[in-house]
Order: sequence, then C-alpha cells, then structure tokens
Amino acid sequence: MTDYDYIIIGAGSAGCVLADRLSIDPRHRILVLEAGGTDAHFWIKVPLGYAFAHVDPRISVCCETESDEGLAGRRIAWPRGRVVGGCSSINAMAYMRGLPFDFDDWAGSGATGWDWPTVSAIYDSLETKDGHAETSVVHVSDLSRQMHPFSGTFLRAAEDIGWPVLDDLNTGIEGIGHYRSTVWKGKRWSAADAFLRPALKRGRVRLETRAKVVRIEIEGGVARGVTYRQHGRTLRANARREVILCAGAIHSPQILQLSGVGPGALLQAHGIAVQNPLPAIGRGLQDHLAVSYSFAAHPDTLNAALGTPLGRLKSGLQYLATRTGPLAVPVNQVGGYIASENAPRPDTQIYCNPMVYSYGPKGPKVTRASGYILCAQPCRPTSRGEIRITSPSIEDEPGIWPNSLSTEADCQSVIRAGRLLQRLAHSKPLRQASRAAIGPDLLGLDDDMLLDDFRARASTVFHPSCTCRMGDDPARSALDPRLRVRGMDRLRVVDASAFPNITSGNTNAPTMMLAARAADLILEDNR
Ligand SMILES: Cc1cc2nc3c(=O)[nH]c(=O)nc-3n(C[C@H](O)[C@H](O)[C@H](O)COP(=O)(O)OP(=O)(O)OC[C@H]3O[C@@H](n4cnc5c(N)ncnc54)[C@H](O)[C@@H]3O)c2cc1C
Repeated sequence: MTDYDYIIIGAGSAGCVLADRLSIDPRHRILVLEAGGTDAHFWIKVPLGYAFAHVDPRISVCCETESDEGLAGRRIAWPRGRVVGGCSSINAMAYMRGLPFDFDDWAGSGATGWDWPTVSAIYDSLETKDGHAETSVVHVSDLSRQMHPFSGTFLRAAEDIGWPVLDDLNTGIEGIGHYRSTVWKGKRWSAADAFLRPALKRGRVRLETRAKVVRIEIEGGVARGVTYRQHGRTLRANARREVILCAGAIHSPQILQLSGVGPGALLQAHGIAVQNPLPAIGRGLQDHLAVSYSFAAHPDTLNAALGTPLGRLKSGLQYLATRTGPLAVPVNQVGGYIASENAPRPDTQIYCNPMVYSYGPKGPKVTRASGYILCAQPCRPTSRGEIRITSPSIEDEPGIWPNSLSTEADCQSVIRAGRLLQRLAHSKPLRQASRAAIGPDLLGLDDDMLLDDFRARASTVFHPSCTCRMGDDPARSALDPRLRVRGMDRLRVVDASAFPNITSGNTNAPTMMLAARAADLILEDNR
C-alpha cells in the first residue's frame, strides 16, 4: 500500500503521540516513517543506561554545532535519538511540564490557544500518576523512595537556604524536589511505549523503520506525499489528507529546506527548486545550556555502589532480578526551578546528582570515590540561532549555529545562575558533606569567572527547539497557531520545532503535549 490518510515523518516524542491520537478513528490509515531502527536495546530500557544510550551510534546520531563564539568557539555535540521513540528513547527521563508563564508567553507571541489553562488540561489527559496503568498515557513516576539517600542532603541544603522544597515539581511554582520520571516498573517508558505500541495494536498504523525521508513531494503548494529511502530502495508514499513532520527541531527544518520550503537564497545556493520562500524555516533556534560542578563527598553516594566492578555486578544482578536498585532510577534525582536575586519568577533550573562521573571514549566512567554534582541551567534564554542545510542531500547533517549567549540578558542570567549554585554549595548540609571541589572551585569564582567558566565548559542540555515557530507574524513564524506551514496546504510541523520559545524546563513533556493538542486540531480541520 502506498496511499495513506496521514503520513507522519519521525517516530519520536511527537510522532508517537500523533500516531496514537490519529489512529483512534477506525477510518484512518497512517504511515509512520522512522529513520532509525528498533528500540529493543538493553541500555534504552534501563533507566541509568541513559549515560550509554545517548552516545550509542546505533541509536543516536551525533550532530555537532558549528563553532559557537559565545561558548569560547567550541563545537558542541548534540545527540539526537535515531531510533523508534526518537529522543524519548535516549533522554534522561525527567518529566517537567514547564512553567505557566512559558505557555502564556506562547499565546502572547501569537500562538493563540496555547495558553496555560488550555495546555494544562492537555497535560492532565496525557499523564497517569503512579499505579494507574492504562494505554495511551505516559507514566510519570515518583521514584523518590528508590533514590539514593544522598538525595535527601540536597533537599536539606535547599531548606537551609530558604528555598521551597516541593513534593511535585509540576505544579508550576518555585522550588526543589525529587524529579518525576518517565519510568514504569523499573524501565524507561518512552513515547513509543506510551503511545506508538498501543497505536500499532489497532492495526491502522504502519510503522516503517530505517525509512529515511528524503523530501516532501509538493505540487502547487500542496503536500502530496513523501519520498523516502529504505534498505537501498527509493520509495514514494501518498497522503490523502496530510503530511506531518515530526522529525525534531534539527531535522524537520532540514527536510523542509530540502523540499524547497525555506529561505529562498539558501535553497537556491544549493540548487533546490523553491516551492515556498519561507524565511522563518530553520530560524529562531533555542536551547538550554548548563554547567556543572563536581565535589568529593564524605558520605557514600552512588559512586560507592557503581564505582567498582563488584558493585556494578551486584547492582546489575539486583536490577535483573527485581527491576530495582541503582540502575532502576535516572541519575538526575533532585532539582527544580528557582528565582535568582530580584527575579520576579523562577529563571534557573538546578539539577543535583548524587554521583560524579566523566565521559571517556567508551562512555561514562564512574570513580570509586564518592562525589556529587551541582548543575545550573538558565531557564529562558533570549539568544536565537539557526539550522541551515549544508548540501542538497539528506545524508549530510545540517549546520547548527546556536548563537549562544549573544544577548546581554543571557550573560547576566548565567552569572545569576552561578550565584544560586554558590548559595546551595555554601549551605550547611552540603558544606558538611563535601570534602573538596573536583575541577573548578565554584565557591572561589567571582562574576566574571562564573561567566568565563560557563563559556569554557557549559554544554547543551539537549533541548533544541523553535526552528519552525508557530505564531501570528508571518516574517518570524513558520507555522500558524494550528501548526500549518504558512502558504502551504496539507502540511504541518508537530514537534519541538514548533515552540514559539523554549519552555523553562526539559522539553519532552511539552513536546508530547504539543502533539496531543495538534492531533485535536488536525482532526477538527479534517472533519
Ligand atoms: C540526551 C538527551 C537527554 C534529554 N533529556 C531529557 C529529559 O530528561 N527530559 C526531557 O523532558 N527532555 C529531555 N530531552 C529532550 C527531549 O527528549 C526532546 O526535546 C524531545 O524528545 C523532542 O521530541 P521531538 O518529537 O521533537 O523529536 P525526536 O524525539 O527527536 O523525534 C524525531 C524523530 O524523527 C526521526 N527522523 C529524523 N529525520 C528523519 C528523516 N529524514 N526521515 C525519517 N525520520 C526522521 C528521528 O530518527 C527521530 O526518531 C533530552 C534529549 C536528549 C537528546
């Protein structure tokens, strides 16, 4: 069969949700084309295996930014899940809805209908809390009882300096607490587990893996179908209703540009026939950056359990026998949103991990000596970068220009975030627990040094977004608020590219929420 009602490009966080919601109607036939292969990998399923999964070239494509002036000219690795489930199969599983003002800002920037009251109702319909197993919902688990006892030290440190300690970080207020995670019964619960598998059971969704979309076929401004490559063959599929791009914030703009939709001069420079000279495709890129500081600790942290071969063997056997123990919990255990000095609302996300580790050529290395990590991420950067194709071929990764720290506001937010971490590190519980700084000594840095250190060491938290923004201004937004590509028929972008601005927290939950609401819009428009 080559004719479908909907063709979904990419089985990532958004594509899986769409496949589920669009296949509820028994009349719909849906094709999902995914460039990666199966997600049946041990390190995908094991929550602590994130450290291996996101750098495994069998399931993750390692994109790299261009030299980034704001980060001392460094090129930063931006891994992207190339596997069923997309980034939800390789991410760190922290489930953060974002803050109410993130979405009110979406609506304020012209994304009508994406205000907090509307999206919070969508979140409610998407999530199940502990213990209520149903299909087509994402399990958002409270793993606090299984977290390492050292996690409690972070909470006592927060209390000591007057930061609120919260039970649930998804209530939209300032505070620190245990992360909720997309984990269920000791295993990662990706968007594929939550949404794609139930959809496939209905028998109306066809999933093609190792199927890389080369371009969208456009005739007279109408998306008619796609051309894709699979196992050395070039194939075509037709869409009776819509083609929906869910290839993520780097590859959705790439596919549009390769299909002739994007900045006219760029397309012409690569010999691509211009279908629609939309300047906003690829522009507006935002991401979160974070810097971490490591400390040697007096009490045992996760290093004591995982820093020796015997400890790893014991933890592995415990996990295999009972799906519990250190391997059953993601490494990001405590964190939250905090307002820095004089900020009217939370503007920094803090992460606290009860383990120190580093990356070598073979993946993560965990030392035997106990330690912990404090990490700060400015929530709402204002700098914007760009994605541009570098050749007319889908096989060449597009160029990524993050343009990090290119505004004074972003530089100031880095300094304020560093000061927040200094306050936390200076709390009585952490002073008592710490032996020494490993690497740069956070407490010895003044404002200039905080900024320099950030430029020298900060890295992505893997949240690229906003490269095909929705909004009401045709010059800046690639999509209208119903996620339709401007000036085109039967073509939408539904993934993290569509965010008007990055949310304050991690981006998986907002992406799945966006896809759930997009499904409602698509069904309404096709009624
Ligand atoms: C290492 C890492 C850690 C992260 N940690 C967290 C976290 O803890 N919490 C959180 O909330 N967020 C986290 N994120 C971010 C979050 O997972 C992403 O923002 C979210 O998954 C993006 O979803 P998406 O649907 O936009 O894209 P993706 O999930 O990336 O899906 C895109 C899909 O499209 C496919 N594709 C691309 N090109 C083509 C093509 N030409 N043809 C066919 N298919 C194609 C890809 O293979 C992929 O499966 C993390 C991300 C990474 C990479």
